[in-house]
Amino acid sequence: MSRSAHPAGPRYADVLPEGHYVAPPTDLNELDPRVWSRTVARGDDGVVAVGGMDVKRLAEEFGTPAYVLDEDDFRARCRAWRDAFGTDADVFYAGKAFLSRAVVRWLHEEDLNLDVCSGGELLTALDAGMPAERIALHGNNKSTDEITRAVEAGVGRIVVDSFQEIARVAHIAERLGKRQRVLIRVTVGVEAHTHEFIATAHEDQKFGLPLAGGQAAEAVRRALKLDGLELLGIHSHIGSQIFDTSGFEVAAHRVIGLLRQIRDEHGVELPEIDLGGGLGIAYTSDDDPSEPHQIATALREIVTRECAAAGLAVPRISVEPGRAIVGPTAFTLYEVGTTKELPGLRTYVSVDGGMSDNIRTALYDADYSVALVSRASTAEPMLTRVVGKHCESGDIVVRDAFLPADVAPGDLLAVPATGAYCRSMASNYNHALRPPVVAVRDGAARVIVRRETEEDLLRLDVG
Ligand SMILES: *Cc1c(COP(=O)(O)O)cnc(C)c1O
Repeated sequence: MSRSAHPAGPRYADVLPEGHYVAPPTDLNELDPRVWSRTVARGDDGVVAVGGMDVKRLAEEFGTPAYVLDEDDFRARCRAWRDAFGTDADVFYAGKAFLSRAVVRWLHEEDLNLDVCSGGELLTALDAGMPAERIALHGNNKSTDEITRAVEAGVGRIVVDSFQEIARVAHIAERLGKRQRVLIRVTVGVEAHTHEFIATAHEDQKFGLPLAGGQAAEAVRRALKLDGLELLGIHSHIGSQIFDTSGFEVAAHRVIGLLRQIRDEHGVELPEIDLGGGLGIAYTSDDDPSEPHQIATALREIVTRECAAAGLAVPRISVEPGRAIVGPTAFTLYEVGTTKELPGLRTYVSVDGGMSDNIRTALYDADYSVALVSRASTAEPMLTRVVGKHCESGDIVVRDAFLPADVAPGDLLAVPATGAYCRSMASNYNHALRPPVVAVRDGAARVIVRRETEEDLLRLDVG
């Protein structure tokens, strides 16, 4: 979705963006299961519960705003991906979507691998006991220190991203007397976002070595010569919030073309390809994502067909879902502070968080849904804009939302599908205290990342 498809500002407030739900939902109390995590339900008293915990109790105990994460749903999604891809493929959870030590333990227990892309994420993964061989290190500018720590720890793979890095990783591995397994990240000339994929300007980006022009092939040549490296395969990541597999089809075709070229030139068949992440989720009822088993079947078919055509054995496939695992598992719980009716325009509903806990609306024009969760209401639907408490008019949480017309200060609102890229991108803008992540399961709730405190804020400010 392009930015221009979303006219912003009060002048357009009565015109909903194209493709957005234009009619209010028939029942505002209903919770669309595509958008909410699987244990979410509205009780007979009208109060929404998740993991057997009602939101009023959660708000009392943990305060607002808070990210509420459905542990059963998280684990079920891990298993769905694991089972869909089977034992001859690897699923790496992309830790940048949301990472904490509890999450690392769940991933370990559910038999997933883990992608990290910084020293901090690597530290979190190792500290929580993820076996190093199940960790992959990413990044276009890993520091010498990050590479050294990863090689020393024995990470299963480093995805190398530049000529300098190939030499750097090889040098560090040799110095430590090791041989580091690596994949080379390539750009295949496709960048997929949502429904369309763009086949131009894709190589003009900081990640990867382009296939076109031969840089990727040159990287392979160099990596194969270095004693410190064991080249496992090729990595490609084509975008985010993707709803169909056509972009992956082009990517697989081109990556396998490179594998064939490598076999012809060097006489080696690389054993792995990593097709990256980027699978979409439902942020609103308009989104219709695929199930992991559909994605697995489609990717396997594409790779098998392309390998048959190239006369290659089918390599081991890896995928790296982040959003598709954690995104739908959490909602953000807010309390309404003020409402402001602008006659003829809409009603602004202000909550006690905003762009510091969810930057995606401001950053990407992302669409979200919202519901009144502390009670049911029979009031008429009212067009609102749910906004935060920060000092910016762009501090929007949900641009166009229907809420019951009696929404009032003290009500609790929840914004679903905030598990990915919300806490992990949260900031202290306006010296906001970043909200906690509360995991719920079987009628119990526990904090897995605590709320920041005023002491935390002042501790960094050395005066
Ligand atoms: C961000 C990223 C992912 C995960 O993307 P999602 O959209 O969260 O699935 C996977 N692989 C790489 C290399 C990434 O940069």
